[in-house]
Amino acid sequence: MGKKKYWIIGGIGAGIITFLIVIMAILTLFSSKSCKSGGTVDSGSTGTSATGSWTQQGTEAYKNAEATFKSWTSIGMSGAQAAGIVGNIGGAEDPGFVLDQAEIGAGAEGGGGLYQFTPKSKYLTSPKSDKSWSVENQRDVVMALEPQTVKAYFKETKGGTPEDAATAWMNGYERPSPSARANTNSARRAAARKAYELFGGANISGSDSILGDATGTADSGSNTQNDENQCSTSSGDGAGGDWGWPFASIKNNDPGLSAEQQFGYSASRMGNFHDGIDLGDARYGGQEIKAIHGGKVYKIGHKGYTQSDLGYYIFIKSDDGYYEVYQEFAFSEAQASKYIKVKEGDTVKTGDVIGILPKNGSETSPLVNHVHIGVSKKELSAAELSAFSNDGTWLDPVQLIKGGQSKK
Ligand SMILES: [Zn+2]
Repeated sequence: MGKKKYWIIGGIGAGIITFLIVIMAILTLFSSKSCKSGGTVDSGSTGTSATGSWTQQGTEAYKNAEATFKSWTSIGMSGAQAAGIVGNIGGAEDPGFVLDQAEIGAGAEGGGGLYQFTPKSKYLTSPKSDKSWSVENQRDVVMALEPQTVKAYFKETKGGTPEDAATAWMNGYERPSPSARANTNSARRAAARKAYELFGGANISGSDSILGDATGTADSGSNTQNDENQCSTSSGDGAGGDWGWPFASIKNNDPGLSAEQQFGYSASRMGNFHDGIDLGDARYGGQEIKAIHGGKVYKIGHKGYTQSDLGYYIFIKSDDGYYEVYQEFAFSEAQASKYIKVKEGDTVKTGDVIGILPKNGSETSPLVNHVHIGVSKKELSAAELSAFSNDGTWLDPVQLIKGGQSKK
């Protein structure tokens, strides 16, 4: 992303604050719109609630802005990263920090909330929503709806300034129209700096290796309809059968996973949770990846070209209620054709070869260094909604494999 020009814009200093105030006034008075990708519009204040300025200590807006900031630092973001998000809200999206902010002129199906969920019902109907519009719950829904966006933001803005974080969040999450980007970028950046200063951002460095893959699977929540169709029509004729290790070299039921490669609690990841296991190429590179459970390959998809994404992923449905995903071992098309050994519709038995983990160091661009394997009893696109939380959706593959083997 071309950050340099934003830097120049952001470096103007005190004058920018004045500009911010003008922008906020315009937004509040005229409800200026910035478009989100869906084609509907973001808004200014509804005017239904006079909460004061979020930069004025003691006001309701200030309290909400501070809580929003903390909602992100509490899960490992740095002060600059949290400020970048707050700056987008306070600089352009919802300067009033009205928690259940509606969208002006868009009716019942307009956007809503701090993050302008569009339509508003997207927040209310998310499985992660408790419908409270609380700061924390809105954050949870953002992470559930767009885990890859949050993850990419995390990676991209690590160690950066609040200003650059604000621009990154605008481009990654808010996604206003090009003209709205040009018109509001400096206000977002200035507001991020303000939040950073107000809420002590300099003192919060964030978690160092939170970039580890925190997400589970696949596409965003917009595919829910398709997923439901897929669930109802899937025949699930793949046999489940036993569980087995994905690499032939694993002996004595010990895959030798480091703490960060294991399933479950992770001090460094988003949500402090790793929803599967990572098998690294230092140990397993060059070996065939074997199905850990039998089933039908019902989807091979692609999302993203870097280690902060899934790359190509293989979804397998077993007939005993389990779903397995294999991801992050091929990112480019060339890698996929080289390393993926199954196609949609194939049925595999436990131990059948589904792919190959590239040799250590052999695929440096796009980088491959492990395969991530996840297991759920939920259809995998739906399971992704719980990518960041240990709510029982994701199961520990190691325990299943060990348990499966011990039954023999
Ligand atoms: Zn992983």
